[in-house]
Amino acid sequence: TAPDDIINEVKKSNLRGRGGAGFPTGTKWGFIPKQSPKPKYVVCNADESEPGTFKDRDLMRYTPHLLIEGMVIAGHAIGANVGYIYIRGEYTREAKLLDEAINEAYAKGYLGNDVLGTGFKFDLTVHRGAGAYICGEETGLLNSLEGKRGEPRVKPPFPAQAGAFGGPTIVNNVETLCAVPFIMRKGGEWFAKFGKFEKSGGTRLFCVSGHVKKPGLYELPAGAITIRELIYDYCGGILDDKPLKAVIPGGSSAPVLTASEIDVALDIEPMMKAKTMLGSAGIMVVAEGFDVVKLIRRITKFYAHESCGQCTPCREGCRWMEEILGRIMDGKGKRQDTDMLLSIADNINGKTLCALGDAAAGPVISFVTKFKPDFEAKMPAGGTHA
Ligand code: SF4
Repeated sequence: TAPDDIINEVKKSNLRGRGGAGFPTGTKWGFIPKQSPKPKYVVCNADESEPGTFKDRDLMRYTPHLLIEGMVIAGHAIGANVGYIYIRGEYTREAKLLDEAINEAYAKGYLGNDVLGTGFKFDLTVHRGAGAYICGEETGLLNSLEGKRGEPRVKPPFPAQAGAFGGPTIVNNVETLCAVPFIMRKGGEWFAKFGKFEKSGGTRLFCVSGHVKKPGLYELPAGAITIRELIYDYCGGILDDKPLKAVIPGGSSAPVLTASEIDVALDIEPMMKAKTMLGSAGIMVVAEGFDVVKLIRRITKFYAHESCGQCTPCREGCRWMEEILGRIMDGKGKRQDTDMLLSIADNINGKTLCALGDAAAGPVISFVTKFKPDFEAKMPAGGTHA
């Protein structure tokens, strides 16, 4: 198949990035210039680090050849002869499995100087990260791949113009690339039809964790069911049949939903309408009785730790939020602390170089707004610390 026909087929499929941002994959590939004085690259973002997300791990563990095939097709589509799989450092088993699968693919002629006798050259290498969440941000990833500090870059230029080693680069998530062989085999329209809503095609992998009877990975057509249906019809309901308290629907950076807000379809636009996001589809379920202040403190601690420190609002603000949530947890909160948290989060939101700032601020805003009584219940009686 000619490169342009591959890109058109992927456009027709309505495949959208499965890493979190949900950008249309065919459109992204179309941004790569046809002629380039520098080599082009296909980079797979396998730095799956968003808490609550574990779908890419299973894809690499059980179907590594599917990912390799997706990358070869992507390389052919954009005219790249080199690919990298940037895998999070903790995924040691998956990195080893991928290395073995890549060796098998070379031996069979699926990779190398003459892929399947077509004259197309494609080399693929696994590059292991060293445990930084921020290397899941595509330009932080590219810096790390180049041997530099994994700090997000100022954009533009976007990776399609100047990505890995300055060459035009597409960065795609594991699940996204694993969908490509099916699209090429069965057609973009076939893939698109799985989606209930017009803009999103195919199926999605939902990672369900927390207080459900049957946690795990569920593959379902995009947008076909609601969060409520996923929890109660597929995951067996809440542990010990307790009432539901909250759901984080898209990895820990997604704003939280209350028990009365879960009749929302599992797709990108419906989630945005509900003022949250599907993100990486890491769905964390929280039963009544669990301490949501402790939960948001833990999440905030994570983002404060993972901030790369380039932007003042993110570097300082995340620490301040962590500190305030810590004193609330210790029973030393001040009466104005919830307002202070909202103010700090507002000063981070949308004011940073990369999405980590929003990822830290959004959850704090949603938890404080939706579960204010839980925070107030931890304040010292009479507000003596005001
Ligand atoms: Fe680094 Fe945070 Fe700025 Fe992202 S938002 S570049 S993580 S300081």
